[in-house]
Amino acid sequence: MNLLEVKNLNTSFQIGVGTVHAVRGISFHVEQGESVGIVGESGSGKSVTMLSVTGLLPDYAEISADAITFDGRDITKLNKRQLRALHGSEIGMIFQDPMTSLNPLFTVENQLTEPLKIHRGMDKKSARARALELLKLVEIPNPEARLKQYPHELSGGLRQRVMIAMAIACEPKMIIADEPTTALDVTIQAQILDLLQSLKRDSNASIIIITHDMGVIASMCSRILVMYGGTICEQGDVREIFYDAKHPYTWGLLNSIPKVHQARGEKLVPIKGTPPDMLQPPAGCPFSPRCRYCMPVCRTYMPPVTQLSETHRVACHLMHPNAPKIGRED
Ligand code: SF4
Repeated sequence: MNLLEVKNLNTSFQIGVGTVHAVRGISFHVEQGESVGIVGESGSGKSVTMLSVTGLLPDYAEISADAITFDGRDITKLNKRQLRALHGSEIGMIFQDPMTSLNPLFTVENQLTEPLKIHRGMDKKSARARALELLKLVEIPNPEARLKQYPHELSGGLRQRVMIAMAIACEPKMIIADEPTTALDVTIQAQILDLLQSLKRDSNASIIIITHDMGVIASMCSRILVMYGGTICEQGDVREIFYDAKHPYTWGLLNSIPKVHQARGEKLVPIKGTPPDMLQPPAGCPFSPRCRYCMPVCRTYMPPVTQLSETHRVACHLMHPNAPKIGRED
C-alpha cells in the first residue's frame, strides 16, 4: 500500500532576477515500511521535493501538483495547523545539521517532551519518562544527565541522535532524513545509519533518505530515485540502479564511488561540468550540457520516461530503439 503518492509535482520560486524552476513535473510513491533513497547533486531538487510534499516551504514558493496524498489524505488541502500536526505526529524529520534544528535555548528534555505533550496529550511526568526511553532507544549514554543538557553541550553525533529521538517521539508513519550523516565523521556516520536501520526494523515506518552519497543509499534503501535538474532521471530498486543503470548521470554517480578493490593510484571519476542554472534550465534533457553521449535531439526535447520493469524507469533518449547502443563504462 502506498503511504505517500506524488503526481506531477512542480515547485518554483520567484526571485529578483526571474523564476527558479526547482522541481519540474515529478511523480513517485513510497510504500508503507519501504526505505527510499533520493540521490543527486546539490541543486538537483531533492530537498525541495520533500519540503514541497510536506508543506514546509516558505509562502513565496509556488507549488502545484496533480496529487499529493499521505496515508490516503490530500496534503494540499490541509491548513497550516493540520500540517503542523502532521509533522509532529505522523511525519518525522531529521536534518543535516541538528544545531540549526535544535533550539539552543532549551534543554534536551524541553525539546523532546514538547511534541509529546502537544501531539500525544501527555502530562509532564509521562512525557519525561517517554523522553528518557527515547534517549535510551537512540543509544545515548547516561540519558538522565543528557536530558538536562543544552544542544551546545553535546557532540555532533549526540545532537544527531537527539534529532532522531525527536523525529521518532510520536511514532511517525514516515521519517524523512535529509543528509542525516553528512556533517558527521565516518565512524559516527556508520553508527547513525545502523541506528536508523534498527529503528526502521522495529517500527515498520517508511524512511526517505535524501543524500548525494550513493554509499548511504546502498546501505539503507530498497528503492532509489535519481534526481537531476529538478527531474527524476532514473528510478529503480537497488539492484537495478547499482547493476543495471541506464542513465548517463546515474553512471556518473556510480563511477564516482570509491571501490573496495580500487587499484592504488586509480582515480575516482568526477562528473565533469556543473549542474544546470535552474533560472534557465536547458530546453531538452537537463543533463545534455554535461553528457558525453548527448545527441542533437537531447538539446531540444525532454526525454520521455521509458518503463523497463515494474520498478525501473529511465528518462533518456538513449532508450529509443533507434538510438546508439551505449552501456556504462567503468
Ligand atoms: Fe545524455 Fe541525451 Fe540521455 Fe540526456 S537524453 S542523458 S543528453 S543521452
